[in-house]
Order: sequence, then C-alpha cells, then structure tokens
Amino acid sequence: MVTEPVKPEPECPHCGGTGWERSGQSSMRHCRCLTAGRSDRLLAEARIPRRYEHCGLDSFRPNDPSQARAKADASRFLEKYPTIDVGLLFLGPAASERPTWLSRSSSR
Ligand SMILES: [Zn+2]
Repeated sequence: MVTEPVKPEPECPHCGGTGWERSGQSSMRHCRCLTAGRSDRLLAEARIPRRYEHCGLDSFRPNDPSQARAKADASRFLEKYPTIDVGLLFLGPAASERPTWLSRSSSR
C-alpha cells in the first residue's frame, strides 16, 4: 500500500500552504497543520474493518502460545514507543487478525 505524503493545508494561516512556520526570529519548523489530525489520519490509513474498531491489545485473548508471545512482544513494544529505535513486524496468513489489533492498539 502506498500512502500519500502529508501535505500542508493550502489555506493554513500559519504557513500559507508551504508547510513551514516561524519558530523564533531566525528559525523555521514544520507547520502545525502537518501534524494536526495525525492520529485520525493514521487510523484511517490503517483501514481497520469496522467490526474491529472497538478492538485493542487489552481485549485480545490469545488462542495459543504463539499469539500470547505476539501479544507480549507488542505490549513491550508499545510501552517503549516512540523511544524505541526498531520496528515491529508480524507475519501471518492472509486475513489474520494480528495486524488489526496491533494497528488499533498502536494508534491510541
Ligand atoms: Zn500550515
């Protein structure tokens, strides 16, 4: 899946659509319009099916030891996020629910 890069708001009063705003007299920073709604945008891009919208890591009940280890790994990852410098990747058969509950949990 290819996602579009975040674009600044064309009518933004802070950056005028450039994506940069002043931060002090002689410095610039990314405009607040680039980060506004980031959580909602990430959640929408995760394309979580409606029937799983209420699901989270806390409500996930492992069905086997492999799922229990995956849940424990995800919990440790989320406790350290965003200060952790490695990613987390789960692989499984198509239609596996693992990516769904992790996506939902990590967006909170
Ligand atoms: Zn802006």
